[in-house]
Amino acid sequence: MTALDTIKEMDRATVLHPFTHAKDFAAGVGDCYVVETGSGVRIRGADGSQLIDGFGGLYCVNVGYGRSEVAEAISEQVHKLAYFHSYAGHTTEALATLSDRLVKMAPGRMSKVFYGLSGSDANETQAKLVWYYNNLRGKPKKKKILSRERGYHGCSVISGSMTGMSFYHDYMDLPLPIVRHAGVPHHYWGAHKGESEEAFSKRRAAELDAQIEAEGPDTVGAFIAEPVLGTGGLTPPSAGYWDAIQPVLKKHDVLLIADEVICGFGRIGTPFGSHRFNIEPDLVTCAKGLTSAYVPMSAAIIGERVWEVVRDGADKVGAFSHGYTYSGHPLGAAAANVCLDIVEREDLAGNAERVGGYLLEQLRKAVGDYELVGEVRGIGMLAAVEFVADRQAKRRFDPALKVGARLSAEARRRGLITRAMPHGDILGFAPPLVLTPGDADEIVAIVKASVDTVVDQLTRENAL
Ligand code: PMP
Repeated sequence: MTALDTIKEMDRATVLHPFTHAKDFAAGVGDCYVVETGSGVRIRGADGSQLIDGFGGLYCVNVGYGRSEVAEAISEQVHKLAYFHSYAGHTTEALATLSDRLVKMAPGRMSKVFYGLSGSDANETQAKLVWYYNNLRGKPKKKKILSRERGYHGCSVISGSMTGMSFYHDYMDLPLPIVRHAGVPHHYWGAHKGESEEAFSKRRAAELDAQIEAEGPDTVGAFIAEPVLGTGGLTPPSAGYWDAIQPVLKKHDVLLIADEVICGFGRIGTPFGSHRFNIEPDLVTCAKGLTSAYVPMSAAIIGERVWEVVRDGADKVGAFSHGYTYSGHPLGAAAANVCLDIVEREDLAGNAERVGGYLLEQLRKAVGDYELVGEVRGIGMLAAVEFVADRQAKRRFDPALKVGARLSAEARRRGLITRAMPHGDILGFAPPLVLTPGDADEIVAIVKASVDTVVDQLTRENAL
């Protein structure tokens, strides 16, 4: 048995992997891929294979793999001070610097930052802040959180409830009844025949208004949404959506939580996704691109409206009783500062716009006219190709055919990591923001070859 086989055997025997068939994997079925190194937009396996990472890990390695500058900043911080907590007013230079930066660069009128380690825990914090805020304001009934179908906000108890996908709930006793889901602004699937994007957006806003009225506005505390729907299908909102829904939230005194975990730090061409759509959130959730995943760190950024109530409530409740051992970890702060430097210095938001735009255009040219391609969509460095059985009738493939999974497996065989997204047969792309046009050409060539192969397979199976 080789050393690599031993690693795989240990792993299969001991690790419960996310999104992996637990029984099959433990029994040796399916791949166990040992990742060894990464550089730029590529990773290398312990078996010597090299893959272009068209998904930036999980939309998070924005500055690319293997950046010495980040490694050095982390190492310097370890030598100086690897850890101290941020309870009771303790801080580090790295943390104070980062917080000043985040408050200044975030959308809306932001005031404070609370740190965690994952997007899920940051959204858990946001939910607690909404409840805390309304308790302090003497509105103890205003607690429901409205999220969206196909929205993704994490997989812990509240954040998993906010996530609008049933497979995150099934067998796990979620969602909690305090969370409700609204419709998404995906024009391709949601619009009536002949309905314009603007009219569709207005309808979604009217539906949200009606939903809040039906729940009782005095029971609805917050609305949470990603500026661009991520895991639910990499779907930019229909035109005018954000302009239409924000007045509805204002009218009902409902806080807006912008979940910027994917969109933040340049991915869609602006510092935050909210900037692109003129979103003025009350609370902002960040993770992923904050540290480009070099160190786990998340941030719940708190706007003035909520902060003022938290501040004034302190006389009544005493200390703010919420915090993790690792809140404001110095290594996360050091990594975040250097990653934000890189994003600014290398204009990675601009690169996301330019090279992401090129990737989208080339994907459209390469596969947009195929009979089985329903929609090619994207924004900044996010793109998706959605496959359908019948373009005219907009009919999805039989899920048993696993068209999306086959396509991503075929691309993988050819050296490209893409993600088969849930909710249909969708191939998703979210490469590191340092992608070059040459890398984009490589991705598109592999996608086209993979689609051709799967079309051949489906034709042979009489499935087309
Ligand atoms: N919000 C959004 C928009 C996300 O995309 C994710 C992760 N994909 C999360 C929250 C949860 O983040 P984490 O996996 O770090 O808990």
